[in-house]
Amino acid sequence: MTKVLRCKEVGVDCDFEAKGNSVEDIMRQAQKHAKEKHGMDTIPPELLEKVQKAIHDE
Ligand SMILES: [Zn+2]
Repeated sequence: MTKVLRCKEVGVDCDFEAKGNSVEDIMRQAQKHAKEKHGMDTIPPELLEKVQKAIHDE
């Protein structure tokens, strides 16, 4: 089962989506993306929580 996370679903106006086979895989992509596109060196805990909730099976 593929898991997916979309930036839009955490309230960010952005078309990015991360797909992977595990939450860890998605989180890696999301962190890289947040840094490169949103200028976040680290994801704040409250956003991290939203991100983890927004990850779902496609
Ligand atoms: Zn984004």
